Amino acid sequence: MRKAGRHFLQIPGPSAVPDRILRAISQQVIDHRGPEFAGVGLRALAGLKTIFKTEENVFIYPASGTGAWEAALVNVLSPGDRVLMFETGHFATLWKKLAEKLGLEAEFIEGDWRGGADPDQIEAYLSEDKGHEIKAICVVHNETSTGSVSPIAAVRKAIDNAGHPALFMVDTISGLASLEYEHDAWGVDVTVSGSQKGLMLPPGLSFNAASAKAMAANKTAKLKRSYWDWAEMVGPNKAGYFPYTPNTNLLYGLNEAVDMLHEEGLENVFARHARHGAATRAAVRALGLEVLCANQGQESGVLTTAVMPDGHSADAFRASTLEHFDISLGSGLSKVADRVFRIGHLGDFNDLMLVATLAGVEMGLERANVPHNAGGVGAAMKTLAELEQPHATAGPE
Ligand SMILES: *Cc1c(COP(=O)(O)O)cnc(C)c1O
Repeated sequence: MRKAGRHFLQIPGPSAVPDRILRAISQQVIDHRGPEFAGVGLRALAGLKTIFKTEENVFIYPASGTGAWEAALVNVLSPGDRVLMFETGHFATLWKKLAEKLGLEAEFIEGDWRGGADPDQIEAYLSEDKGHEIKAICVVHNETSTGSVSPIAAVRKAIDNAGHPALFMVDTISGLASLEYEHDAWGVDVTVSGSQKGLMLPPGLSFNAASAKAMAANKTAKLKRSYWDWAEMVGPNKAGYFPYTPNTNLLYGLNEAVDMLHEEGLENVFARHARHGAATRAAVRALGLEVLCANQGQESGVLTTAVMPDGHSADAFRASTLEHFDISLGSGLSKVADRVFRIGHLGDFNDLMLVATLAGVEMGLERANVPHNAGGVGAAMKTLAELEQPHATAGPE
């Protein structure tokens, strides 16, 4: 049966694509080696740099985020290299597994999935590595399985405090263009990101930003690579081209997305996400549910993960809520499967969309007979009123 009205896609990526971007994508494909394409490619590469906040190289792949994870590792590391990773959640675990499949010796600092990476533990771990055998430290910025944010600048400081020369790699696939991020200023060597989260695009593009140190490591890194090789990209990219057929229509969309982000102002975009995160946590707590992220100050503005009351299935709740209110909420992944649900509040999103989303959660709990308190939506509305709306005063960049 047809469902009237707009579906609420409130998973933490893909996020709903704004009409303006859908229209930009809906143009005829052009010759990717012809003169017209160079403008599209150059604009995409230059635009991305303003989002990563980097003056260094940015690479675009016609792949999902997982491809850019692989690209990051194979471009700078050699077989058997030790890499240190931090267990923030499911996505950190997947990146580690990918590293192991590539022939790297990946080590975890274990975590409880309730916070971001701990810089003190990283510093202590690196200080023990007197022979500098660890070649890279990999951290997930916004852990999409839990809703916790790692303090990237503090991890950089921890690496420096330990006097360790390893490369610093960050996955901000779900953080970029929603949370503050500074590739250059934070001293990140390789940043990994993707199209379908904060950038508001459909899935299918992913990115690496690479520091000068990472570009130098690329020259000696021995892991096998062909499709992902930065060295093949640099030359064509200079003129706005790619070594193989790029995802032309998604590049049209990317250029539109970058324009939209700057029209709103990146600082306003970040403040909007932070404010929606605060309002969502207020709602979840008022409903009598626990927020999975237990580290104050590390809660994400991209998504909020709520813990189900004991004995109640998160997946049954989500299925019921989808059926009755046409809203998709994110599932719990691996360790927290069926125990939690995730509310995405990222991308092209405003106060009324958030209030409707939280009403869907609250009505859904009622409909699925999950014990909860009333007043979740009211608590969110109160928080929204208390926190000043950022773009009411500031103009575009
Ligand atoms: C979405 C996501 C990924 C995986 O990206 P795909 O596009 O699904 O390959 C990896 N890491 C994080 C933090 C993510 O949010």
